[in-house]
Amino acid sequence: MFSTMQDEQLSLATLLRYAASFHGDATISTWTGDGVRTSTYRDMGRDAAKLSNALRELGVGVGDRVGTFMWNNTEHMTVYAAVPAMGAVLHAINIRLFPEQAIYVTNHAEDQVVIVDGSLVPMFQEYLPKMRTVRHVVVVNGDPATLTVPEGVQLHSYTELIAAQPDTYDYPVLEEHSPAGMCYTSGTTGDPKGVVYSHRSNWLHAMQVLSPSGMRFSDHDTVLAIVPLFHANAWGLPYAAMMSGASLLMPDRFLQPAPLLQMMDAVRPTFAAAVPTIWGGVLAALDAHPQDISYLTRCVVGGSAVPPAMMRAFEEKHGVTLLHAWGMTETSPLGSVGHPPRGATGEQEWEYRFTQGRFPAGVQARIVGDDGAVLPNDGEAWGEVEVRGPWITASYYSPEGPMVDPEKFDDGWLRTGDVGKISPNGFLTLVDRSKDVIKSGGEWISSVDLENAVMGHPAVAEASVIGVPDEKWDERPLVAIVLKEGATAEASELREFLSDKFAKWQLPEHWTFIDEVPKTSVGKFDKKRLRARYADGDLKVVTL
Ligand code: ADP
Repeated sequence: MFSTMQDEQLSLATLLRYAASFHGDATISTWTGDGVRTSTYRDMGRDAAKLSNALRELGVGVGDRVGTFMWNNTEHMTVYAAVPAMGAVLHAINIRLFPEQAIYVTNHAEDQVVIVDGSLVPMFQEYLPKMRTVRHVVVVNGDPATLTVPEGVQLHSYTELIAAQPDTYDYPVLEEHSPAGMCYTSGTTGDPKGVVYSHRSNWLHAMQVLSPSGMRFSDHDTVLAIVPLFHANAWGLPYAAMMSGASLLMPDRFLQPAPLLQMMDAVRPTFAAAVPTIWGGVLAALDAHPQDISYLTRCVVGGSAVPPAMMRAFEEKHGVTLLHAWGMTETSPLGSVGHPPRGATGEQEWEYRFTQGRFPAGVQARIVGDDGAVLPNDGEAWGEVEVRGPWITASYYSPEGPMVDPEKFDDGWLRTGDVGKISPNGFLTLVDRSKDVIKSGGEWISSVDLENAVMGHPAVAEASVIGVPDEKWDERPLVAIVLKEGATAEASELREFLSDKFAKWQLPEHWTFIDEVPKTSVGKFDKKRLRARYADGDLKVVTL
């Protein structure tokens, strides 16, 4: 027996051609600070062909890495489309990494070309002399003359580079497992590690993003892509947008709540994506300056746990549904999305939405205990979450070959480092990251549960919980609180607020009030830095 189906390779070039033709009128709007500049997918198709021709002239061939050091804007989307389509490999560099990490990932990926935004030239200038493999730097949205390049490196203007190029390109037919793009983890809990996506994985992942168990956007939507294109494969938004013909609103470098609300008012996006800290800021800004944002029907939020109080506030005050999603750089990143199942109503519906969501058919998941035994999906047993599937990485990238570190991989499964439980109907509830869970007297306390609960207090803007050493119990929770502007609350009052939500031994006795929770390069609470501040005696701790 044989299958009669055509052996068509999944290819991002097909996606680009599709978007530029059948969805040629879909728009990409980039915020300029006081308005938008708008182009279409048809324009993107033309510019992607011009860029592909130009990159080929610079010597970029199949499998070569092209880095970007850019904000979310029209040109970054064009690069996202062009580079894999021509067979090269896109490496969106996280511009917020520490300098040594940004240099490390560029050298490790062996980027030959880097396309740099004009506004980031001063920062990039510091890094460039140490980037050993870069041969060409292309400055976009700025003046290349502001950058000095070392000997052996050629400098170009993006506009001039593509201006005289032909507006068609004969994209190669590639084997679908060929590399298309790479992304490094943001290093929240260690050194950045490289993940290489294939044409096939990105294609299948885009279908998942658009599916009923994914983000569910379509050509009827305008998607506000706040999540940086360098964070975790941009959550799959660029290729899903091209596949669906959804229009895009790109914030460029204007990522504070006020400009975000201003651009929303101007373009009225219907869908958005960002980490919880962004939405926390937007919510506070809306409290201070009310504005109707009910055109924004859904936002996907993930990267760290979404506080239930935030989900309720968006829904009840602003008519916006926050969709809680879980994923990692290693999972392309979409793992699970919290759509309530059929039949769930009222509080039960909320309970489902507060979980990290339901796994789709493409992501197999299991829970593994400390002893390596697979635990049941009964919604009770918890352990490390392991996943596998066609858009889940099987190794980390190294120039020497695949790295299959037993700490991260278990017999073909990715070990996520997340501790959680799975219900019989496939919903994931994360307890914590294994490195953040607090081990108190042989029992575990979830830092995330404490954070979520205390962030439900009306005076609290942000809360981050870390374990601190304790002679008797090994570790005890320390709660770092950022109060809302003008609000007051004592540690004892906050502890009292938690008292009916946790067992007595879980209630934290150590509290500290800070101006801001330190954030990672992608806007997550940076517990490493908070722990360091505690160890340095930098935090004023109240012990009850
Ligand atoms: P890094 O590991 O450097 O933070 P990623 O952005 O890939 O880079 O982070 C993936 C991790 O983010 C997951 O392993 C998990 O710990 C956390 N995470 C992602 N989504 C959620 C969520 N909805 N709730 C809680 N944690 C989440």
